[in-house]
Amino acid sequence: MARPRFTDPFQPAEVRRLVREFGSPLLILDCERVRVQYRKLRKALPHVDLHYALKPLPHAAVVETVLGEGGWLDLATTGEVALVRSLGVDPARCIHTHPIKRPADIENALDYGVTTFVADNPDEVHKFAHLNGRCELLLRVSFRAPGAVCDLSRKFGCDPEALLDIARLAAELGVTVRGLSFHVGSQAPDAAKHVEAVGACAKLMAAVRREKLGPCDTLDIGGGFPIHYGTPVEDIVRFCAPLRAALQKLPRRVRVIAEPGRFIAGPAAIGVASVMGRAQREGHWWYYLDDGLYGSYSGQLYDHARYPVEPLRDSPERLPAVLAGPTCDSIDVIAENLMLPKLKAGDLVVGRAMGAYTWASATDFNFFPRATVVAVNRHPGDTGGVYPA
Ligand SMILES: *Cc1c(COP(=O)(O)O)cnc(C)c1O
Repeated sequence: MARPRFTDPFQPAEVRRLVREFGSPLLILDCERVRVQYRKLRKALPHVDLHYALKPLPHAAVVETVLGEGGWLDLATTGEVALVRSLGVDPARCIHTHPIKRPADIENALDYGVTTFVADNPDEVHKFAHLNGRCELLLRVSFRAPGAVCDLSRKFGCDPEALLDIARLAAELGVTVRGLSFHVGSQAPDAAKHVEAVGACAKLMAAVRREKLGPCDTLDIGGGFPIHYGTPVEDIVRFCAPLRAALQKLPRRVRVIAEPGRFIAGPAAIGVASVMGRAQREGHWWYYLDDGLYGSYSGQLYDHARYPVEPLRDSPERLPAVLAGPTCDSIDVIAENLMLPKLKAGDLVVGRAMGAYTWASATDFNFFPRATVVAVNRHPGDTGGVYPA
């Protein structure tokens, strides 16, 4: 059989065509790149079940593409449960990983059919006491990572020293401890924290089993796998090499799962904005785009990211320029001190690696609408569509 054929929607001609069809601003999501990312991480972490964390890009097209690859899902909120439920996803492929939940969030996820939840403190374990037999817990342990761009272990996870007491409480209340989980922080600089956490968790899991507090045979190694923005990062297979070695030392019966978000979604989308107008100020051309820091570029604030931006128009003559967002707020500036070709209204500006933590945290401040997501290559020969319509 011939290999399925996909169009590259990031090519300038395709970008222009999609803007003509769907307007601006756009987030062009290439499902084929989602597949490529998923397969790369599978290769880097063989025998690890990959649960795509919806948070960075909670979009139906990503969810269905990951499932199409045989993947799994990581849900954290009632809204995310509603999304996958509306798509008819088998709940057996989902886990719920928010360490702090309202009883209604738990009931809602249980009603859908999710049976694996996360807890990291005694109060949260108590919320499962009356649910005997209906679900199991992963206990989340914290390993501080001051080097990570987003240190998620400050807000969530118990001290490794506190873990056994929480497991004892679960056992007392009849709540099954299925395993442990951690998240070392997003866009990790290297795998050292993952390796340290796997080693520490292996010891804790053995201790839980020794005391017969639960089966404790699942280890969830979280997310954090980095992608290339402006500065190069290590190839993911090489990045994961020490982690693979650490996982190999685990007892064979331990099932290992991961919760990648950024790595799956980040490189799979570009942001496309149009120049609304321009002005010369203090020797710089200011270009005002229809997307900015309150929209898809919100990740520059919340996620501390810097997206490589470039206009589609090229010219050898370059002038000092500023790219600004559309709102009337002065912080709404995407990038300064650029050297750009002279642009005019209607010209397109593309931001790369904008799939993760961009559209997801966008607002409609000033009533500038969020970018429209156009998902391309959901199937071979699919040339793009707003999805769901
Ligand atoms: C945000 C989050 C993820 C995804 O993390 P990435 O660094 O984007 O891979 C996974 N699990 C949990 C619990 C999260 O909060």
